[in-house]
Amino acid sequence: MGFAWFQENRGALSFYVLRLVGPGSAAAVVTQRTGGFSKGVYEGLNLSLRVGDDPRSVRRNRRLLASTLGLNEKDCAWPEQVHGESVLYADAPGRFSGADGLASSKPGLWMAILVADCVPVFVLDEQLSFVGLAHAGRRGTALGITRNLVELVKSKADASGQALTVALGPSIGGCCYELDTRTASELPRPFVKERNGKTFADLWEANAAQALSGGVPADNILLPPACTCCEPQMFFSHRAHGGSTGRQMAIAAPGGLGLQRND
Ligand SMILES: [Zn+2]
Repeated sequence: MGFAWFQENRGALSFYVLRLVGPGSAAAVVTQRTGGFSKGVYEGLNLSLRVGDDPRSVRRNRRLLASTLGLNEKDCAWPEQVHGESVLYADAPGRFSGADGLASSKPGLWMAILVADCVPVFVLDEQLSFVGLAHAGRRGTALGITRNLVELVKSKADASGQALTVALGPSIGGCCYELDTRTASELPRPFVKERNGKTFADLWEANAAQALSGGVPADNILLPPACTCCEPQMFFSHRAHGGSTGRQMAIAAPGGLGLQRND
């Protein structure tokens, strides 16, 4: 057993879905650009109201997503996303100020973050009784947000790291994440690499290392199934699109999402 990422289509939309290998509902989902009503640089399923897209298109996209996944928008809990390291327990829907990550065991609640290169981090147990979701960009990664999320789930679920899985969703990989040396120096040295005279940071390995240090076994750590910057047709990528682009949504829910396998 164990979790794996699967690429799946539902109607006009496409997703990366995190599932236990074998039958069962989805543990988490990351949207792709395919389908949706946005135009121009936001073309496809842009889910952010804060990037300059027509709000009517975004609202239509959100309604399409909610109906495709069988979710009610009023049951959503979301962190404000301030590029910090704060993670909070969510016991009710709504916005959580100052937070970049949430964890919950509340049935019926779902959690969401918006990303376009930053790493969506999922922490979960096999029963999906406890689920955490965080936004790990460069700063959040440097500050240790994945470590904080693992510790929050361990303490709230009264679980050891051994019992947890950490899965990283589609995001920018070390293949594409070039930084100037001064900015890169904010990250721990092992995750900064020189290649052809350029400096690259590996947020995937940096967040995986935080999960490991929290006691999560290496076999229970899933790296992203895709680099957003390598596949800009499939994903919004801040880097690939020069800063002006939409956002995909990463979603997790205690008990999982009612998205059955369709193969
Ligand atoms: Zn790449």
